[in-house]
Amino acid sequence: MTGRTDGHPAPDVVIVGAGTAGLPAAIEAAEHGLRVTVVEQADQVGGTLWRSWAQLSAGGTELQRRKGILDSPRLHFEDAMRISKQTADPELVRLAVEHAPATVDWLMNARFDIHPDAPAILHFHEPYSIPRTYWGRNAGRSVLEVLLPRFERACADGAIDLRLHTTMTALRKDGAQRIAGVTLRTPDGTTTDLDAAAVILTTGGYSGNAELFPALTRGAPLVGPGSPTSTGRGILAATDVGAQVRGQDLFLPTYGGVLLADSTHETEGLDDYPSLTPQQRPPWEIHVNRHGTRFVAEDSHSVDVRETALLEQPRLEFWIIYDEAIRRAAPPLLPTWSDLDLEAAFDRHPSFARAGDVGALAAAAGIDANGLRATVAAYNDAVESGGDEFGRRHFPAPIGTPPFYAVRNHGTTLKSPAGLAVDHSLRVLGSDGAFANLYAAGEAIGGSSMSGKSFVSGMSVTPALSFGRMLGRKLAGEPHDPGSM
Ligand SMILES: Cc1cc2nc3c(=O)[nH]c(=O)nc-3n(C[C@H](O)[C@H](O)[C@H](O)COP(=O)(O)OP(=O)(O)OC[C@H]3O[C@@H](n4cnc5c(N)ncnc54)[C@H](O)[C@@H]3O)c2cc1C
Repeated sequence: MTGRTDGHPAPDVVIVGAGTAGLPAAIEAAEHGLRVTVVEQADQVGGTLWRSWAQLSAGGTELQRRKGILDSPRLHFEDAMRISKQTADPELVRLAVEHAPATVDWLMNARFDIHPDAPAILHFHEPYSIPRTYWGRNAGRSVLEVLLPRFERACADGAIDLRLHTTMTALRKDGAQRIAGVTLRTPDGTTTDLDAAAVILTTGGYSGNAELFPALTRGAPLVGPGSPTSTGRGILAATDVGAQVRGQDLFLPTYGGVLLADSTHETEGLDDYPSLTPQQRPPWEIHVNRHGTRFVAEDSHSVDVRETALLEQPRLEFWIIYDEAIRRAAPPLLPTWSDLDLEAAFDRHPSFARAGDVGALAAAAGIDANGLRATVAAYNDAVESGGDEFGRRHFPAPIGTPPFYAVRNHGTTLKSPAGLAVDHSLRVLGSDGAFANLYAAGEAIGGSSMSGKSFVSGMSVTPALSFGRMLGRKLAGEPHDPGSM
């Protein structure tokens, strides 16, 4: 046990960040007898769960068994590594898939408001081969509905000392590979030190920090719906004491997403993205880069093919191009947008353009006009012949009836790829090995640890919950094998 600081007895564990990983870590640690301090920079707990879809994945759950779906952690592991193109961390993925069924069962036993269609194979990310994605009817909020009552109970019982509006600004070292505690900026702006026997960093990623994102991701621009609380501060504090970061080279954008009218990096919420999943809505439009050139079969069923092609395009931008006839005949491209919303967007929103001919459309959208004219003509030939150079198969209509439309999209980020290197006990790694008492879980260990250069469905939220629980129990001296959780 360490000494006293800031007028309170030192806690057994300081958990920095009260989001997807931090909440279950705090619940388990407190319910197993530890004195826990939770430090959260925002004015509420929950982190990214307030905006995440929070789709979970697990192979070998009770629900799958009840529905007659044959699955196991081994099959989940093989699928996850296939989708990550073998670029995820195999040992951490193995740990995650072994704990995943217990995590989903745990949520279910706590009356998780699961969507009746789950588990299913979903197609927004490269799909699994077995139905093993689960989601709540109220997305991330359904997960919070399970976590918050237990967290609040532990706070009310005095087992958790919750400090909102409090930012960890630094970790303090005590010897080469030991942490003495944390430095905090309190709500009144003063700085204070807090000692702790152990520190868990559950500070999330950096997908809300447009300055830090390129610095940690080999220059890639940040565009996405990330939470502003995903500041990357925890990762930076750990690197200041010698922690290692990895995954900087494993960025793959999500295919599509429209900026908010007044932002250079924040997009509309994920539910308001254009419908670009061909399995749900075969495309009637074409997608072009700023040269006016197509770069992929828009109807490719492989998310990986489309995302990898987008990675090569200037500024990770593309425009969805269509005409009035398509607007009238096709299922809605932006299903959650009303006609009034769209009219207003085409009048004022900088990502939306409308014009009477293809050249004027290109000029309005910021695309090369000659390139776009040639591309539209070539596409219209392909509609006639039924084939093109990309292998597209769905050619419902040519693009030729004015007015013409362009909607600018981006390669977007739902989870930041780089993060703290950890060992298989989730201890943070420095250049001289693991820190004895500094742990990390959730997106702080890098989205690429579980997904590699891809997005493996459910493999951000599920491991965040599992590893948070694992660490809470482990520090309390409880067994943390999957079966006991
Ligand atoms: C729109 C969207 C949809 C997504 N959908 C899915 C999905 O369906 N499935 C999936 O697996 N993943 C999904 N993800 C990713 C997933 O939600 C996140 O990776 C995960 O929730 C992160 O959990 P976390 O605990 O690591 O961080 P968070 O939940 O972000 O929590 C981190 C907390 O730490 C706090 N904090 C940070 N730094 C400090 C500091 N220095 N001091 C004090 N507090 C600090 C923050 O304020 C925050 O509350 C999605 C992400 C987004 C943005």
